[in-house]
Amino acid sequence: MKTVLITGGAGFIGSHLCDLFLKKGYRVLCLDNFITGSKASIEEHLSDKNFALVEHNITKPIHLSEDVDIILHFASPASPVDYLNYPIQTLKVGSLGTHNSLGLAKAKGARFLLASTSEVYGDPLVHPQTEEYWGNVNPVGPRGVYDEAKRFAEAITMAYHRVHKVDTKIVRIFNTYGPRMRLADGRAIPNFITQALKDNPITIYGDGSQTRSFCYVTDLIDGLFRLVNSGLNDPVNIGNPHELTLKELAEHIKRLTGSRSRIVFKPLPKDDPRQRQPDITLARENLKWLPKVPLEEGLSSTIEWFRKHIK
Ligand code: UDP
Repeated sequence: MKTVLITGGAGFIGSHLCDLFLKKGYRVLCLDNFITGSKASIEEHLSDKNFALVEHNITKPIHLSEDVDIILHFASPASPVDYLNYPIQTLKVGSLGTHNSLGLAKAKGARFLLASTSEVYGDPLVHPQTEEYWGNVNPVGPRGVYDEAKRFAEAITMAYHRVHKVDTKIVRIFNTYGPRMRLADGRAIPNFITQALKDNPITIYGDGSQTRSFCYVTDLIDGLFRLVNSGLNDPVNIGNPHELTLKELAEHIKRLTGSRSRIVFKPLPKDDPRQRQPDITLARENLKWLPKVPLEEGLSSTIEWFRKHIK
């Protein structure tokens, strides 16, 4: 039986990775310090003998006695609201946390996957974003704590690959949504759904003409599994190229929830990217991966989950 260690395993994406690897017959070590992760996301696995919870802050060194075959480094605050609330933790988990995770991968001879982000492209001047684009990031702006931590994380991952020959992979994850996002994590989809279900005003920041491209979580997880098992070591975009404005997103959610909410406009946060869409040619050609879940279907499943969990 192979063992996978998932840092941030109790987070939104981490918990879906725990589900998948358990289902595929792996032993899963779920590491989290619960700054933004939640016990509820992994509760169903606590009694599974192939699952172990490691409560640890990965910015501190870690020693594990058991063998590990794969390390998936997903620990980090990932919502703009979270990384503004935890700027130092965000910088530390992206830098020290990645260093510790890579050190463990080297010691164990484990394959390593870094969860990077479309934020490495900043407010992109190239559209759609290909992996060759180096980005347009403000290092000292409010989002710099996340963007620069992830850029450093990519750099040290490539260094461990080149110097120590660790079999590393880097995924640049574009906006992802689905069940188990925190209701109050501050991102557009959880905010809009929560507001719509409560008939509260739906808050669009700016005039709503900025764009994003949203990928349903099961599609992302499928892409991640293919990437871990591939021979690729350079960064790969995983996301859904279906791009829409935030205003269109708000209108979809209002309609799908049958909400009576008004749409209101609030100030746009500093350095909020104007546009974002992944070019997924690399993943399509090398991983034979394509997102399958259309936005309406993914939003409907997410809304159903939120309905059950909203207080
Ligand atoms: N946004 C919004 N209303 C909200 C939350 C977010 O209009 O209540 C906007 C935000 O300004 C950004 C987009 O939605 O333009 C996506 O934001 P999110 O926080 O989901 O993630 P980002 O893509 O910026 O990392």
